[in-house]
Amino acid sequence: AEKAAPGIFEVLKAAFDFYRAALKKSPEAIAYFRKRGVEGKTAARFGLGYAPGGDDWQALKVIYPDYDWNKLLTEAGLVIEKEDTKRRYDRFRDRVMFPIFNQRGAVIGFGGRVLGQGEPKYLNSPETPVFEKGRELYGLTQARAVIRERNRVLVTEGYMDVVMLHQHGVEYAVASLGTACTPEHVKKLLKLADEVVFGFDGDKAGRRAAWRALENAMPLVRDGKEVRFLFLPPEHDPDSYVQEFGREAFERLIDEEALPLSQYLLRELSLQVDLTAEEGRAKLWHIAHPYLDQLQEAPVLRLLVQKRLGELCQLSQADMSQLQAPR
Ligand code: ATP
Ligand code: MN
Ligand code: MN
Ligand code: MN
Repeated sequence: AEKAAPGIFEVLKAAFDFYRAALKKSPEAIAYFRKRGVEGKTAARFGLGYAPGGDDWQALKVIYPDYDWNKLLTEAGLVIEKEDTKRRYDRFRDRVMFPIFNQRGAVIGFGGRVLGQGEPKYLNSPETPVFEKGRELYGLTQARAVIRERNRVLVTEGYMDVVMLHQHGVEYAVASLGTACTPEHVKKLLKLADEVVFGFDGDKAGRRAAWRALENAMPLVRDGKEVRFLFLPPEHDPDSYVQEFGREAFERLIDEEALPLSQYLLRELSLQVDLTAEEGRAKLWHIAHPYLDQLQEAPVLRLLVQKRLGELCQLSQADMSQLQAPR
């Protein structure tokens, strides 16, 4: 009897089941997760899996042997078709797999990591009809209830950051999928909770990502919302930090050290000038104003930042009211 052909969500779900089952059968993948501190319970909660390698690069073929397996798997981003030879092969081979779910809990894509060294370290599903990278947040399915309860969301860079933070009890963590945090992400985050904390890696890439997040957040933040930035020591990311120092230390860092957006902004801009010189303070006023103008949705915060900027520039209220913001 003929069954109805599967749709893209069914193919993704079938791959998800296949990768999870394959993890149970792969001592190397199990050892990898164990080495990284992932407990079985955590692996189950996040649906972690393994994409087998193998010589023919067609491990996924077993999912739908009766159908034209290639077309839907290709559409789902799981199989790649070579243009010239039309040969088809699995996108993810010999990688540990992190499934990505949508709001409804359906699998829409994957991230896959090499077990050891190798390039690229992470491989993500391509954009597909059901997977838009700039919108999805990894871990949101697992984090949603606690985000609401705590009225706080922590945004990290990576899959392992989310997984290990959750394992240690920081269950309001999500990640922007490898790509930088987009305006769409920020919009979503500000809807989820009143407090949004960006906790990127302490390295250079993480610091750059934080500044980009600030730029994306400024036009969207409203009075009543709190956007903050956590800067980890340069050698750490949230995963390594929480594993080394534990949940309490990590959350203390958020509570006591994460910089409010306003302070992060003024600190970074102040570093670009010489505050001891009149010219430096004039320059600070000059370069800060385009940023202040971005705070259109938060008039009170804008005013308070302007006041603080005035103090840094050693301008009185009377001085400032004489000034028109330079453009
Ligand atoms: P791990 O702890 O497993 O080594 P990480 O998450 O700390 O990984 P980073 O190098 O800090 O890795 O990168 C942060 C995130 O950026 C990754 O989790 C992944 O989502 C994304 N990423 C990293 N390298 C790549 C890559 N080559 N291609 C696509 N995305 C990547
Ligand atoms: Mn990094
Ligand atoms: Mn890491
Ligand atoms: Mn990292």
